[in-house]
Parts: sequence; structure tokens; C-alpha cells
Amino acid sequence: MNFHRLAVFCVCWAVSSSEMQRPEDDPDKDALRYDGFVVLEMTLTSDLQVKLLTDLKEEVRRKEEHGTTTIEEWTGSINKERPFSLLLAPKVAPDVLMLCHKEGIQYEIVWNDLQSVIDLQNAEAVSSSKTDRDDGIAAQTSGMTWARYHRYSTIERYILALPVVHPDLVTIERLGLTYEGRQVWVVKLGKPRSDGIKKPAIWLDAGIHAREWISSATVTFMLNELVTKYTSDPIIRRLVDQVDFYVVPMVNPDGFEFTHQKERLFRKTRRVNPFNACIGVDANRNYDFQWQTERAELRPCEITFGGDFPYSEPENRALFEKVLDLKGDLKSFITFHSHSQLWMLPYGYTFDLTPDDAVVRDLAVNATNALRALYGTVFRVGTSPEILYTSSGTSRDFAKGRTQIKYVYTVELRDTGEFGFLLPAEQILPSGLETFEGVKVIALRIIEEFARN
Ligand SMILES: [Zn+2]
Repeated sequence: MNFHRLAVFCVCWAVSSSEMQRPEDDPDKDALRYDGFVVLEMTLTSDLQVKLLTDLKEEVRRKEEHGTTTIEEWTGSINKERPFSLLLAPKVAPDVLMLCHKEGIQYEIVWNDLQSVIDLQNAEAVSSSKTDRDDGIAAQTSGMTWARYHRYSTIERYILALPVVHPDLVTIERLGLTYEGRQVWVVKLGKPRSDGIKKPAIWLDAGIHAREWISSATVTFMLNELVTKYTSDPIIRRLVDQVDFYVVPMVNPDGFEFTHQKERLFRKTRRVNPFNACIGVDANRNYDFQWQTERAELRPCEITFGGDFPYSEPENRALFEKVLDLKGDLKSFITFHSHSQLWMLPYGYTFDLTPDDAVVRDLAVNATNALRALYGTVFRVGTSPEILYTSSGTSRDFAKGRTQIKYVYTVELRDTGEFGFLLPAEQILPSGLETFEGVKVIALRIIEEFARN
């Protein structure tokens, strides 16, 4: 035990001592504030309303400087099929409200001062980061908890501690450096079979979109459950014995750090775009499968800008090479986002269904039923065009279209828009627990279908 503790500390100090000295709750003094920003939930009933609101949005965004947030979708997208919500800067909100009154558009103000929600999201960090849970030695020695959102330095210390504390179950591998030079890690978790037979594998990743903090917190929680309960929980033992999990806890650490220090609602990577002042590429529009077939993905200042060419982002190159390496072994690929509570199947670029849609959909329904059984949280199942919007060049479409992995999903975690990207830290634990119930269903199916006895 003592040896483990010593070894973990040694590893940590060798990695990022400069980052370790920075207090975790210390955004820069010039961080963007969201005082008076409004979130408006709206219900449209006609094509004319859709057109008027879309035109207003386009007009406002054309005048934007350097991608400043003025108006953007918070939940869903502008449509007349289902309610959606918009994030509005104070200078834009009156114009949108005026349009609502003039056109008889139904709306509800969800938040009228987003900064106050941001201030509260990680409040747990100030009061206490302790729970009565025993999260194990890797978490304890790295300062990792699931009672608050942590900076990348802590997440990285935790990743580095895992193979030291659990050498029989875990190996880690560098996938590559980000644009700003941070390391992207993959954690391989699984007990090697004594007969040497190859196991089916499952891919889990999080944090491709910088502001979606709950995704990384949920995935690291599931990872920690798998390593710490291996000896005590028979289902977890079965999973770890029969499956190899490849887990990338943070795909876009540059963007993630930027959301902590400068701009909480930033989404993209931190690439400087040549000939354009807007920073970043939407890494989840940058894969080379049906790349940039949507209009917004061509413009650098849009939050869904797909880059100048596929795999322009080193974070994506790192991932796609590893996934291709594992082609044949991977039977499921699940990428975690937030928010909206959706369990989405391929594809995003088209309404056409994949040949095995029925079986992939059926498993998603089973997974979300198991998830719901814990706290009653409802996740909708469908393709992205069916239940959210069309999107192209995503990692989900790449995983299905380029590597033919069978069970591919994009999971949009809690909630349905109240807190959205600002989900309070107290919901990390329930999100982790319920999502793990869904993932267990997938993993058990993979064992049933692909593991050799
Ligand atoms: Zn996302």
C-alpha cells in the first residue's frame, strides 16, 4: 500500500508540476463573464416563425466580432417540431423578445443571468470536495473526486495513477499532443485472458466539446467503478474479464482548460485559423466521413466549423489512428457529450438508416431503460436527424462509416436544458451511476455476442 502511494506521487511530480501549483478554482481575471445573458425556451408553430428567427440569428451573427457569443442554440435547434432554447447576449435579447411578441411566439425565460448559474455550478468545490464514498487509491492520491469538476491537471494525474495502482488491469498510452501541446491519453482497462485469446473491445470517450464538462466527469466515474469494484462486484468482474475498455477521458484538453480559465461556454479546439480571427475547430465535425456537408461547418466563426481539411486537428488524428488500429476488436464505440438526454445512433449526416439499425436501436432502448430504472431519467433514442439535427464529419459517423463498428452511439448526457452545459457538480454522481447502468447493458451484449468461451 505504502509503495503504491509513493509511486503515484513520483509519477505525478514528473508530469506537470507547473500546472499542479495553479489553484483549481482560479479563472483568469479577464475571463469572459455572462452577466445578463438569457436562456429562452421557445416553441414555434409555423415555417414563417422559423424563417424570421433564423434570419434574425444569421443577421446578428454576421455582425459578430471574432466569434463573440451573441446568439446560439442552447438546446436543440431552431425548428417547429419540438421546443428548443437559445442563449442570448444582453444586447440581442430585446430584439428576440420583440420578435416573439410581434409574431405571437411562445417563450419562457429559463435563465435571466447566466453568470449566476456559472458561479454556482462548481460551488461544491468551495464548500467541500469530500463524499462518504471510497473512490480508491488512484483517486485519493491524485485529488480526483466526483463531487466537483476538476481541471485537466487533476484528471491527468488520475490517469497516470491508474496503472500504478492497478497494474493487473490498466495500461495507459499517449495518443498524441494537442495543438497547445497537452497530452491526449487512452486508458486500456481489462484483465488479460489467461488463454491469450483476444477479447472484444469497447471504446468510450469524452470531452471532445470543451464546455461539456459532465461528459468527462461521467466517463472517469465509470472508469473508476470498473477498476475499484473489480474484486467486489461480480458483474463488473465479468465485464473487466471479458472485455477490453479503451477510455479517452478528455479528447480536447486545450478547449477544456480554456473553458475553465477564460470562456466557460467555448466549444471548439484552440487552433488559430489562418486568415481568420475566430479561434478553433469543432473537432466533432472534423472526421473524414461526409465531412462538411452542412453550411455552418464551412465558416470559421461558427461553433460547428469543421476545419480547413479533415483531421486538421491533432486531437482527432490521435483518436482516429488508434480507432483504426483497433478495427476488428472494437464492437462498440460510445462518445459522450452533453446535454439533452439522447442516446443517438448513426448516422448524423442523413435520414437514411444503416442496414443494422433495428438491432443497434434495440440495444440503445435496452440501455436507456436500464439507465431510467435508477432515477427515472428519460433518454430519447434515435438518429441525430430524427431527434436533434443533422451533422456531418462526426466521430460517430466516422466510427460507423469508416470502421464498421457495430454498436456506435453518441450519448448526450443530463439534462434537458435547464442547466445545460452548466450542470451542477452535485449531479455528477447520479449521472455517472445511471449512465453506467446503460453502458453495462451494452457491454454485456458485447460479451454475449462476441466473447469466446
Ligand atoms: Zn457535444
